[in-house]
Amino acid sequence: MVRNDVDVKLIRNIMNTIEPIKAFTDNYIWCIHDNTNAVIVDPGDAEVVIRYLNSKKLNLKAILVTHKHADHIGGVSALKKQYNGVQIYSLLPEIATHLISNGDSIKIDLANCMTFKIIALPGHTLDHIAFYGNGILFCGDTLFSVGCGRVFEGTYEQMYQSLMLIRALDDDTLLYPAHEYTLKNIKFARTIEPQNNTLTQYYIKCLDLVAKNIPTLPIKLGLEKLINPFLRCDVLELKLGPALIKCSPLEIFTHIRILRNGF
Ligand SMILES: [Zn+2]
Repeated sequence: MVRNDVDVKLIRNIMNTIEPIKAFTDNYIWCIHDNTNAVIVDPGDAEVVIRYLNSKKLNLKAILVTHKHADHIGGVSALKKQYNGVQIYSLLPEIATHLISNGDSIKIDLANCMTFKIIALPGHTLDHIAFYGNGILFCGDTLFSVGCGRVFEGTYEQMYQSLMLIRALDDDTLLYPAHEYTLKNIKFARTIEPQNNTLTQYYIKCLDLVAKNIPTLPIKLGLEKLINPFLRCDVLELKLGPALIKCSPLEIFTHIRILRNGF
């Protein structure tokens, strides 16, 4: 039977599975696999990855790295030793076998080929990147569900612009952040936007998921736009008091990101 391009694309996406591997207290190491080969995103811990790959009889083909923090790269060298020829796509010359930079495209050679574009997202760290393609985004510590990463190295303006780059992607994009911070983020967001009914509904859903030990991720960008205060600095009526009414979106972003640090 002859299928058109759209059908083929759809089938290809369905045939690759993406699953989380839990690490440390709240990290997710994402794994894309085709039942034979696997690609791992941000392996902070090699042991949990090896255990997972063995349990599924998967060979590790490639590693994607979003940024240099230890809870994202701590397992890279052990995995490199364990899996001969593993390709490491990173901006960091000390660990990369395939050094990449903003705007590059990489092809992940699973049974169903996936192409990802590298997007620079400075803010959390200056050299933070995301992998975007096939309707999905591995966004590391830049965006979390109902939250965003701390601004460690960049400026608040850089972080805000990085979040705006994500916001400009298609609403159907599935976001794969690296941490399960959702419930705490929702509790904070409800102090900023208490009247947001979509956020309340999402809170109820996530309480149930977390109680059942089910990840709240991935999440669709279209929903995040309705509930994540860091994506809504220019569109919402935030409960910030009269002093911030005339502030720019960037000033509001900076204010609520600092508030979140102490929450
Ligand atoms: Zn980080």
